[in-house]
Amino acid sequence: MTHETKQSPRITDATVSQERLQALSSRVSSKESGQLTVRESATEEPLGTVPNCGQAAVETAVERTRNVQESWANRDPEDRAEILDRFGTLVYEHRDTVLDILQLETGKSRKHAVEEVADISINCSYCASNAPDVLASDRRTGAFPLVTTAKVTYESVGVVGVISPWNYPVTLAMADVIPALVAGNTVVLKPDEQTPFVALMLAELLEKAGLPDGVLEVVTGQGEVTGPALIDQVDYIAFTGGTETGRVVAEQAGRNLIDTSLELGGKNPLLVLDDADPTKTARGAVQACFTNAGQLCLSAERIYVDEAIYDEFLDAFVGATRQLTLGTELSYEPDVGSLISADQLARVKSHVNDALNDGATLLTGGRHRPDVGPYVYEPTVLTDVDDETTLACEETFGPVVTVESVPDTSAAITAANDSEYGLNGSVWTGDRERGIAVAEQVDCGTVCVNDGFTSGWAAVDAPMGGFGDSGLGRRQGPEGIKRFLESRTVATSKVGPLTVPPGMPTSWYARSLMTMSHLKGRLTKVPGIGRLLS
Ligand code: NDP
Repeated sequence: MTHETKQSPRITDATVSQERLQALSSRVSSKESGQLTVRESATEEPLGTVPNCGQAAVETAVERTRNVQESWANRDPEDRAEILDRFGTLVYEHRDTVLDILQLETGKSRKHAVEEVADISINCSYCASNAPDVLASDRRTGAFPLVTTAKVTYESVGVVGVISPWNYPVTLAMADVIPALVAGNTVVLKPDEQTPFVALMLAELLEKAGLPDGVLEVVTGQGEVTGPALIDQVDYIAFTGGTETGRVVAEQAGRNLIDTSLELGGKNPLLVLDDADPTKTARGAVQACFTNAGQLCLSAERIYVDEAIYDEFLDAFVGATRQLTLGTELSYEPDVGSLISADQLARVKSHVNDALNDGATLLTGGRHRPDVGPYVYEPTVLTDVDDETTLACEETFGPVVTVESVPDTSAAITAANDSEYGLNGSVWTGDRERGIAVAEQVDCGTVCVNDGFTSGWAAVDAPMGGFGDSGLGRRQGPEGIKRFLESRTVATSKVGPLTVPPGMPTSWYARSLMTMSHLKGRLTKVPGIGRLLS
């Protein structure tokens, strides 16, 4: 392995000081809690402290947001949209500081951090332009043609709790916060304890954009304490994180009978068909596997290649992987940054070592690189991986991918679908229509053709989420806003109560009710008539 190495960053190189970070932490209204130390991932040096919010602090935050929820919900949707649009602009204007904090907290490379800033612009402008239509009432088909009507109105669910992870602390927090706010909810955000400062910076920018006091509160703290306290007090919980934590969150939400959306892990397949261009596909696969050092829920962790082009693809892919530079400096130079923590490094090492002990072949990588940063791990490619190893079955969430040869497309689809997860798939081919046909057979919430994940994630008008153990519900698109709304159906009868009219024998009424219901079913199928009857 000949990866070039780069120096680690220091906060002294950043556009943000420790005093500034500490000032951000005073946004957390809790005064009675202890403090948590936040460290720079690439050097393990302390960056600052934030309150370790417990039950009482969470209660205070939820109460503050609840007090202003009604007035926020009563504002015109266009007003709310305008504030979020301004927020998008402010994030763009403060991008250097946002990127620096992101890099300091996560150790990710700047090349990958920029995706988070770009994502805010896309998400804000989508919600600002589309929310007013999504929130508008609509007319539906009534119970009986001509004599009844049905109208559906939408209102906010109330206070939304957002629990966000460390891997994309901007994107994955804001993909829930922005639609929840635009839908008239107030929000309490619990960022991961390793990445609170960037969340606090975003809260500050939202305030600058005109978000009224109390509409968004941030509670910093440890997941196992702050998380359950939050779930117990909110009206909806939007969670992003690991599948096992997701199950715990869903159980608690279920007991409280609150709705929830969960975006969880993935073991995402990438399929290379026999007509794919090996060099172009190898380049795309490198991005699909090693973006954010593989700590991306949409990352490809399993590659299935048609045997017709296996050797050619593998040469190109392993060669391109070896070219990647490692580093954590605050510049656009390094290709791949650090893992976030000792825990994440331990997980990656154990997956790789177990697979090697079970007979896998290492094609490149496989080494921890403390010379670059305490948690840096080389981009790693393995083959001949036993189907039963942890590496084959569980999300690794690191720069590690397995590559296997398959006899044909049908075998590639079968292998891709042989997983408990179903978040994101990727299909590579010289024939886009063929790619779409194959994509439609891959059991994942998004499947990208000739791209790893960007075209799916950035299609913000389309829903995004997982099959199976990858989660519940969808974010993005109208679905991503509607999840934060309660619907109310207002149905009217133009002829008084729909019951037996005075003087009519019940047997006549029963016969006419059944006949009308039957006819309605038939008539609504006739083109042009269904609409008239509603
Ligand atoms: P977690 O799922 O534990 O953490 C995600 C968020 O949940 C964090 O804010 C965390 O807080 C919080 N949390 C932890 N425990 C609870 C709880 N009992 N109730 C409510 N919230 C809680 O992920 P990890 O950081 O432990 O990572 C483990 C694995 O999960 C990764 O290796 C990866 O496979 C997967 N993962 C997937 C992500 C995705 O994007 N889908 C994102 C992150 C992880 P805190 O950390 O502050 O304790």
